[in-house]
Amino acid sequence: MPELPEVEGVVRQIRPVSIGKKIEAVTVSDIIRLSKANGKEAIIKRMEADRFVDSLTGAQIVRVERRSKYIYFTLRKDHEFLLVNHLGMSGAWFYVDQLQSIPEDKFRRHVHVILTLSDGNLLAFSDIRRFGEMRVLQEEAEFPPLLLMAPEPFEPGAREHFLAMAESAKYQNKAIKELIMDGQIISGCGNIYATEALFKTKIHPKRAARRISRRRKVELFESIVAILLESIEAGGSTISDYRNINGESGTMQDRFGMYGKKQCMVCGTMTKTLKIGGRASVYCPTCQK
Ligand SMILES: [Zn+2]
Repeated sequence: MPELPEVEGVVRQIRPVSIGKKIEAVTVSDIIRLSKANGKEAIIKRMEADRFVDSLTGAQIVRVERRSKYIYFTLRKDHEFLLVNHLGMSGAWFYVDQLQSIPEDKFRRHVHVILTLSDGNLLAFSDIRRFGEMRVLQEEAEFPPLLLMAPEPFEPGAREHFLAMAESAKYQNKAIKELIMDGQIISGCGNIYATEALFKTKIHPKRAARRISRRRKVELFESIVAILLESIEAGGSTISDYRNINGESGTMQDRFGMYGKKQCMVCGTMTKTLKIGGRASVYCPTCQK
């Protein structure tokens, strides 16, 4: 699943090719239309497909930003509004002259939303597993979970927010891994980077937050920030279906110390896997206490 660095990579690429351009036409796949006709909410949330098309057609792309794992397109018709996109498990954007130019067949076959831009090129959203989301919002508050997100991890205040939450009655007895993967506590850190940061700071993923000293909590937070920044530099991690808008994948996975490993790179012990918060958590039983 794309985490903060992967989404940041996508945003940095969409920005220069889309800002200032107009969305001339919008196409929604038959699969999405059929799913919506059957009362399901595949990708386009809380809006009929035709209304989605009408809302976006003719709008100018003013800004493209990342907030946690969401992509915010600020659009303007007579007033500004938002298209908020989450990549889900396998969402990917491609900027191409025609759909045939999308590099891999599996992505080409699962294009569900196409924005035809005023430069003649397409901004195409492909989603193999269809867990991605798109919402047209007049303001963030129309989708309240957006308002509950923790501050951006690189912003001042994010560390204090994390410490306050981790020490609160609600969370202090929870497993630390569950906490750092919770977007209300830290923004944008999913299973991959949580696994790596806990390994780096030698903290057992199941340790209760209250049994970790403040100094070590700070160390953990700083480690998450450092790993997220390193991954942005590396173009993100390519785990299964992540691609950037040119169909390329990142290289951060080559630097993993623990995620997906059978053996600890530090001490050679066979790694163990626990289920925490519904997600598989790999750790070294010798190094992580
Ligand atoms: Zn070890």
